[in-house]
Amino acid sequence: MKVLDRQDASALPEELAAARILVVDDNPANLTVLAELLRETGYRSVDLEASPEMAVRRWLAQPYDLLLLDMRMPELDGLEVMARLRSQVADGDYLPCIILTAQTDPETRAAALDAGALDFILKPFDFDEVLKRIRNALQTRLLHRQARQRLDAYGQTISAQQQALAEREHDIAYLASHDSITGLLNRHGLCQGLEELAQETKGDLVFLLVELSDADQLMLLEGAQSVDYLLREAGTRLAALMQDLGGICGVWRGQTFLAVFPAREDLKSEVERILDTVFAPLPFHGSHVVLHGRGGYALASPASKDVDLVDQRHAALRAAGLALASAHRLGNRALLYDARLAESFARRHRIERAMQEALQTQPEQFQLAYQPKVDISGHRVVGCEALLRWHHPSLGTISPGEFIPIAEDTGAIEILGMLVMDRVFSFLSQRLQRGSWNLPIAFNVSARQFELMRARGMSLVNAIETRRALYHIPRGLIELEITESSLLTDFDWLVTQLEKLRENAIGVALDDFGTGYSSLSYLQNLPINTLKIDRSFVDGAARDRRQAALLSNILQLARDLKFVSVAEGVETVGDLDLLRDLSCAIAQGYYFSRPLMEPDLLLWLKAFDHRS
Ligand code: C2E
Ligand code: CA
Ligand code: CA
Repeated sequence: MKVLDRQDASALPEELAAARILVVDDNPANLTVLAELLRETGYRSVDLEASPEMAVRRWLAQPYDLLLLDMRMPELDGLEVMARLRSQVADGDYLPCIILTAQTDPETRAAALDAGALDFILKPFDFDEVLKRIRNALQTRLLHRQARQRLDAYGQTISAQQQALAEREHDIAYLASHDSITGLLNRHGLCQGLEELAQETKGDLVFLLVELSDADQLMLLEGAQSVDYLLREAGTRLAALMQDLGGICGVWRGQTFLAVFPAREDLKSEVERILDTVFAPLPFHGSHVVLHGRGGYALASPASKDVDLVDQRHAALRAAGLALASAHRLGNRALLYDARLAESFARRHRIERAMQEALQTQPEQFQLAYQPKVDISGHRVVGCEALLRWHHPSLGTISPGEFIPIAEDTGAIEILGMLVMDRVFSFLSQRLQRGSWNLPIAFNVSARQFELMRARGMSLVNAIETRRALYHIPRGLIELEITESSLLTDFDWLVTQLEKLRENAIGVALDDFGTGYSSLSYLQNLPINTLKIDRSFVDGAARDRRQAALLSNILQLARDLKFVSVAEGVETVGDLDLLRDLSCAIAQGYYFSRPLMEPDLLLWLKAFDHRS
């Protein structure tokens, strides 16, 4: 046995010294020799095993960094031991094994190499060589282990990244299909959900748009967070309902939800129930807030082969949208789409556009007609009311009853009102230039026009005064007619405006009296001088005693409040006689004249003068 070189031991790096080595040999002498050699070299963890069976068990319990394996053993030979152990080696790993053998024949070597041996150590041992081969094998093993550890760490990072990526993908898909405020589906998500629902459903589907109407106002009063809260709560309620009904819902836009569910009998009350639930009072800042909203809905029939499913869904959505818009305009809480709605909606839209265009490029499409007001004696004309007429080249003549409410909704009434005012002033100015004219002209002013001007810091009173000065119109020739609905705005503000008008000798009449909401106390405090009794009270009063009594009462009221009364819609001599009996002061209506264009009015006035 060769004596050990001490330097070798001290030179042994720590990671080699700590390596775990298993020596397997049925010859105890060999074991002792190798053990002694290794321990003296500095290897601290050397296990010896004479039984190959035991060796296999030991290895399997905890693998070693190196196996020194005798080739020839009684129970199991080296090749078999290797075969057993190699079957347990993980993917990408190898069995670190050096064969101890006395055989030098090529067959034995080949068999050992085939079995996966790394190297050979020949018996009898040449210690120097033994140590070098062991050291080489261990160094390779350690390098391999480090590489594996790096690889494992790398693999872990990758799988963590893959997981993070998958989560991100999931998040992105969620965000892409959900509304961030309510957590319900968004428009994109709804479209996907609709696809599935349409496929599952055999019967009709209801498309219901539900809009929270006062969200804008709440936003101003309470801030965005409160509105978000209300939307979330309303959305949660809707979602619960849809779960029961087997439908889906989500946010279609801003403050409008879309719910789609299979139609059942009594759709109308079903929709009412949904709106009742969604808009039920909600706890809010320690009390409750009442939500206001509207719904528009439409039905989509099951897809047939010749109708494209997507087209049909788009049509149903458009129809529901139209129903919602109509509910808005007509003041309904919920409306079911039907073809007439679509027609009137389309006409309204056409009128809106035509009006905008006419006001910008062809204001001459608008003309004023004038209807005389006559003293009840029937002998004296006391003034005229200017009434707007619109003739559109392709839409034809559109009545003010149709286009004025549209102008009020779109805000065009402000420009239209100015146009009327300008026409009235220029008419008066021309009449005055051509001779004497003493008939006051009254024009109509919408409540909405008042509001719009006020919102922009403009005053109707100033607008009138500016024109009066510009056109040199004497005081007393201008009158206004305002409807009772004007009284619904800020009453005190309105009173100050009316007082200024009175100071400027501009007469104001309350139009359509009797149809609106004016209470007596309000009327008493209004600085105006004339009531125009609505046509509906005059109509038929000459033939119907109950109607006549009603008319009489209204006229009595006007007298008690010291107003001058003007009766509208006087069509027959019977109407006129009755009104005279009831002491009405002034009459206006077809009996005297229809509203007339300027030249006709002048002719009519001339004829009237000659008649009386
Ligand atoms: P209004 O101010 O009550 O005008 C009276 C309406 O009754 C006019 O309808 C007039 O043509 C009609 N009328 C007059 N005498 C008779 C009659 O004997 N029998 C019947 N059946 N009707 C009679 P018109 O011109 O269609 O105007 C409708 C409404 O449109 C007006 O009601 C007024 O509220 C509004 N309007 C008309 N022009 C203007 C305007 O320049 N500005 C504003 N803001 N509204 C206007
Ligand atoms: Ca009027
Ligand atoms: Ca009227």
